[in-house]
This record gives sequence, structure tokens and C-alpha cells, in this order.
Amino acid sequence: MNKPVYDRVALIGLGLIASSMFWAIKRSGLAGEVTGYARSQATRDTARKIGLCDHVCDSATEAVEGADLVVLCVPVGVMGSVAKEIAPVLKPGATVSDVGSVKRAVIDAVGPQLPDNVHFVPAHPLAGTEHSGPESGFAELYDNRWCIVVPADENTDPKAVEKVRALWEGMGSFVDQMDADHHDLVLAVTSHAPHLIAYTMVGVADDLRRVTDTEVIKYSAAGFRDFTRIAASDPTMWRDVFLNNKEATLEILGRFTEELFALQRAIRTGDGDHLFDYFTHTRDVRRSIIEAGQDTDAPNFGRGAKKP
Ligand code: NAP
Repeated sequence: MNKPVYDRVALIGLGLIASSMFWAIKRSGLAGEVTGYARSQATRDTARKIGLCDHVCDSATEAVEGADLVVLCVPVGVMGSVAKEIAPVLKPGATVSDVGSVKRAVIDAVGPQLPDNVHFVPAHPLAGTEHSGPESGFAELYDNRWCIVVPADENTDPKAVEKVRALWEGMGSFVDQMDADHHDLVLAVTSHAPHLIAYTMVGVADDLRRVTDTEVIKYSAAGFRDFTRIAASDPTMWRDVFLNNKEATLEILGRFTEELFALQRAIRTGDGDHLFDYFTHTRDVRRSIIEAGQDTDAPNFGRGAKKP
């Protein structure tokens, strides 16, 4: 058990990320009390039923009252309106953070809503599954995963930043810090563009399925199955990610298209050396991810392949 980092934490939005935070906070005793709020009665009822949060509130303002840390765990597109709603009741000296997958747009939407007497320390845990909702969370989600802390500006109180870092470290994460634009570019490469490509590939296969009946499903090989797992991610969350990280995602997709054309050309012209060198290089990228402990080389990327 750690010494609590905060007396009272409020989680706004009770889906995968918030519920995993709650279980991880409890596992290590990182907060004296955790309150929670979700928009729908159904989610609040489920949270109460499964013991998610010490106290589930019926309004966001009730949940944040007296909280030392408020974490916005809602889709990126509604962060600004939620911040506006809770701003009048935030405790002076409290810290507001978030877990949004995009940082510049969240900082621009949330920052202006907050009073001057609170600190704003955005963060983004690089951990997730394709599941969502209050029952999808688990305490180990953040173990050995990176969390990127992105202070809203250079005047952010270092003590407030240090406490947010300590919370994430206590939940099992490695913590790094960078500015919002750099974060958004890095994530466009490592997460946002790959998700869009997976959505597209599954869409293409689904079109084909109409021609080949059920063969795409029946014979789906590991490559396609992995795409379908990614493409099963929450539609609201991912719509908001693309709408709010437009420039970086389009920049990476432009580069992707160029590389794709080069590979297409190599196939058409029979340039085997180009294909071999390219695939040798990409295999090295995979090896370095495994060496860095960010995935395993087990079949199905270590995510529990089941026998049919
Ligand atoms: P989730 O499981 O779908 O949960 C979202 C929560 O937000 C739900 O409790 C939902 O309430 C609430 N919510 C939705 N719209 C709202 C609104 N207009 N006002 C108030 N509450 C609202 O999502 P999640 O995966 O936890 O993602 C939450 C955040 O984490 C997102 O910003 C996402 O970008 C970020 N993130 C996600 C992942 C991932 O892999 N999933 C990874 C890192 C960061 P109801 O249930 O009542 O609708």
C-alpha cells in the first residue's frame, strides 16, 4: 500500500479508463476517497452494483465538490462542456486532469473554462482494450504501460504536475512528459492512423464478404483478426479522436499513402529486393517493441487467443 497521493479524487465518466483507474487506485491505496459520475442512469446503476467508486453521484458538480483531483474520463469532444459544467464548484487549489487521447484540442477546450485558482495537468495513458463501459475496467490495465503527462503550459505548478505523475506511477505506469503538439504527432503515428487503417481494412473485407458470403469470417487469418479487434473500438471515442487530431492524422496518412504507392509499384514491377528490405526493416520495429516490454511475441499479440 502506498501513501495516498490525494485525499479525494473525482472521476467524471465511468468507462474503461475511469473504472480501471478506480481499481488501480484502490489496489495501491492512492486516494482516501473516490467519487464518480457518469451521464446515464444505467451506467451509474451498474457502477453502484459492482462497487465502482466509493460514492457514485447523480451530477458531475456533486462528484467534484471537495475533490483534490478531478479526472475527465469522457470522450474528447465533450471535455470542454463537462469542464464548463464543473468549473463553478471546483475546490480552490484542486487539480483538473483528463485522459483524452488527443491533447492540443482538449487543452484548448478545457483550459479557458477553468478558474485561475485550479491547476490543469492533462494526461494520456497509453493503455486500452477494444471494450468500453464501467464493467470493462481492471486494476492491471496500466501496469508497465506509458502514461504521457502534458502540462497545459510552462507556468503549470510543478507540485501539481508531480502529484499527477505520482498517481500514474502508483497505478503501475511509466510516466513521460511532453508538449501537446508533439504528443498529438506521436499518437497519430502510433495509434490514430493505425486505427483508421484497421477500420478501412475491415470495411473493405466487409464489402468483399457480400461477394464471398461468409468466407472472410470463416477463414479470417491472424492479420485480419487483429484488424477486427482494433476496428471494434468505441465509435464515439474514435470519431472524436479523428475530428480533434485532424492535422497530425492527415499528415501521417499522407506519408502512409506514399509508402503504399511505393509498395504497390514494387509488387507491380516485381521488385522483390524492395519488398524484402522493407519487410526486414518493419520486422526490426516489431522486435524493438517486444524488447521494450510493450508487447509479447505470443500468438495473437498475447491477447488471449481462444480455440474456435
Ligand atoms: P467509455 O468506456 O466509452 O466511457 C466513456 C464514459 O464517458 C462513459 O461513462 C459515458 O457515460 C461518459 N460520457 C460520454 N459522453 C458523455 C457526455 N456527453 N457527458 C458526460 N459523460 C459522457 O470510454 P473510455 O474508453 O473510458 O474513454 C474515455 C476517454 O479516455 C476518452 O477521452 C478516450 O479518448 C480516452 N482514452 C481511451 C483509451 C481506450 O483505449 N479506450 C485509451 C486511452 C485514452 P455513459 O456510460 O453514461 O454514456
